[in-house]
Amino acid sequence: MVRRLPQTLQSARLAPGRQCGDCAVCCIVTKIDDPELQKPAGAPCAHLIPRGGCAIHALRPDTCRAWFCGWRHLAQLGDEWRSDRAGVMISFIPCIHQGYSQTAFKLTTWHRDAVLQPFVLDFVERILAKGLPVYFAYTPGEGAGFKTFLNARVGAGRGTLTTTLGQIMSEQLARWSQIGTPCGLEASGRSGM
Ligand code: SF4
Ligand code: SF4
Repeated sequence: MVRRLPQTLQSARLAPGRQCGDCAVCCIVTKIDDPELQKPAGAPCAHLIPRGGCAIHALRPDTCRAWFCGWRHLAQLGDEWRSDRAGVMISFIPCIHQGYSQTAFKLTTWHRDAVLQPFVLDFVERILAKGLPVYFAYTPGEGAGFKTFLNARVGAGRGTLTTTLGQIMSEQLARWSQIGTPCGLEASGRSGM
């Protein structure tokens, strides 16, 4: 049996009444490889206006028009999940899990502590309990793209999840300390954490 996405994603609908506001996380964190626009993960798009906004908004490529993070899709997520507020961006990627082609949740963070916030842990715990595939990625700047398949690392229980995420974060921080240029989100988006 192939697992299915939530109804909101099957129909590609967005959660009603939700706007990006001054969030610009996906214009920095995501890798874009489109005939009209290319940029690496963890680097601000050349069209991103400082303090938010797209300099080519009316003419932005279709890939930008069509792509939204999980917070824009999943109505059950609260306002704390807007990517810049959460310090975590949810996206969806194809994967093979338990022998089937599935869509995995991918949680990308650029702040070492964001993933350990209780509402993030609750969410991860729930989707892991359903057997859905989850990736955790740390993308603090250009040149960084660490991704770990959580299902293979996490056992049962909150203590285990918290400990495992902390371990993964330490591993990824150690790798990041060797390379890369900060993308600026650490200082601007979640400076209060
Ligand atoms: S990360 Fe989500 S909320 Fe932020 S700008 Fe992109 S789609 Fe909008
Ligand atoms: S073109 Fe505009 S919407 Fe697309 S990534 Fe760049 S700043 Fe964001």
